[in-house]
Amino acid sequence: MRLSDYFLPTLKEAPREAEIVSHRLMLRAGMIKQQAAGIYSWLPLGLKVMRKVEQIVREEQNRAGAVEVLMPTIQSADLWRESGRYDDYGKEMLRIEDRHERPMLFGPTNEEMITDIFRSYVRSYKDLPLNLYHIQWKFRDEVRPRFGVMRGREFLMKDAYSFDIDEASSRAAYYRMFVSYLRTFDRLGVTAIPMRADTGPIGGDLSHEFLILADTGESEVFCHANMLSRAVPGSDVDYSNDALIAGIVEDWTSGYARTDEMHDNELWQEVAEDDRVQARGIEVGHIFHFGTKYSEPMGAKVAGPDGKDVPVQMGSYGIGPSRVVAALIEASHDDAGIIWPASVAPFDVSLINLRQGDEATDAACVTLHGDLMTSGLDVLYDDTDNRAGGKFALADLIGVPWQLIVGPRGLKEGKVELKNRASGEREEISMESARNVLETWRVDMRARYGG
Ligand code: ATP
Ligand code: MG
Repeated sequence: MRLSDYFLPTLKEAPREAEIVSHRLMLRAGMIKQQAAGIYSWLPLGLKVMRKVEQIVREEQNRAGAVEVLMPTIQSADLWRESGRYDDYGKEMLRIEDRHERPMLFGPTNEEMITDIFRSYVRSYKDLPLNLYHIQWKFRDEVRPRFGVMRGREFLMKDAYSFDIDEASSRAAYYRMFVSYLRTFDRLGVTAIPMRADTGPIGGDLSHEFLILADTGESEVFCHANMLSRAVPGSDVDYSNDALIAGIVEDWTSGYARTDEMHDNELWQEVAEDDRVQARGIEVGHIFHFGTKYSEPMGAKVAGPDGKDVPVQMGSYGIGPSRVVAALIEASHDDAGIIWPASVAPFDVSLINLRQGDEATDAACVTLHGDLMTSGLDVLYDDTDNRAGGKFALADLIGVPWQLIVGPRGLKEGKVELKNRASGEREEISMESARNVLETWRVDMRARYGG
């Protein structure tokens, strides 16, 4: 992509109301634009990152056996009356009336609707287990929308819902989602720690939140140091093996890891002082097992092997891809800008032409751009006639993993410069070596983060 053809409306300075670094950087890098309190447009660079996050979430949901659907954003109030949540949900729910004066709402979550879909089609235990998910916009009229897309009113959520015949298989379904979350965040290039959680208005008895540690996080976090460096199961993990999956979850939940809401000071004192990590964290995922809380009032029943109808056992599993984009920035940036994890970077390489209009430099850039694209690398070619300083600053700001810098002086000796955004290391090498480094990186990256 040539920068001159792209839409990258960067800002010199972030507006003063942007309090945290991810919000400032997302505005400055032209990723989002606010349209109303807590409501944002996603501009090309931001959208590209969010789509990559979504795709990783999707692949890991599919791998764990979940099946994608798409439910609407607008729901009928009647469904929510069946579960009793229409009155309970309070002001966070955006209530709407259609032209026939029928009460509708913009969905804050989808337990009721998915339960309705389930009860319309599924009658027998033979059709279970079943896990349906979608990736759809939600609306919650948060009291205090803030921090950009971190706590928006309209935000994207992946929400999955599991259906099982009994408690034991429902727990197994919960554990599969737990493991898929470990894999998802690992592929997103970030450590997200599962922590015992309160179930809140969703209800139920088994729940974990996944938190990314960051100074600006809204939750206070207490965890054992060894939670920060555990090995995550590989892509070959066997989701059909319930015992194996339960073992992974047991291992991951054996150490102390809780947010302030669930913190237990007595248990905390049992953790050796040197191992105690007390920090701030951002909730990026939340999973619940709630049994028959919705199936019972809504009459979602299935016939068991003995022919008797029982209410289906359920769980729900959320991740917020829009919040994840901001959380990744909180976890990975420096004074100059964003440092994207390779798996979600909007581009792989910033190709910087130091002397736009110089025949040899332009030709070298065009060749490199074409070659790198042929190798499957996504390149943003800065072909503008901005000054070199401005081009470097832009490349640092948008934080793509590599900068390939091409100028007339280097070219005379057959050299270009390759800079790694994360480490800051620079190297003067031949065009061919640069291509090789980048191609090898791409292959390694796929192996490490790929599907
Ligand atoms: P929080 O405690 O941060 O308000 P929640 O517990 O209400 O979140 P859940 O119902 O568990 O949120 O939603 C699942 C996921 O959706 C969260 O883990 C988060 O990633 C995302 N999410 C929830 N609320 C918001 C929001 N206002 N803005 C952006 N993402 C959100
Ligand atoms: Mg939550």
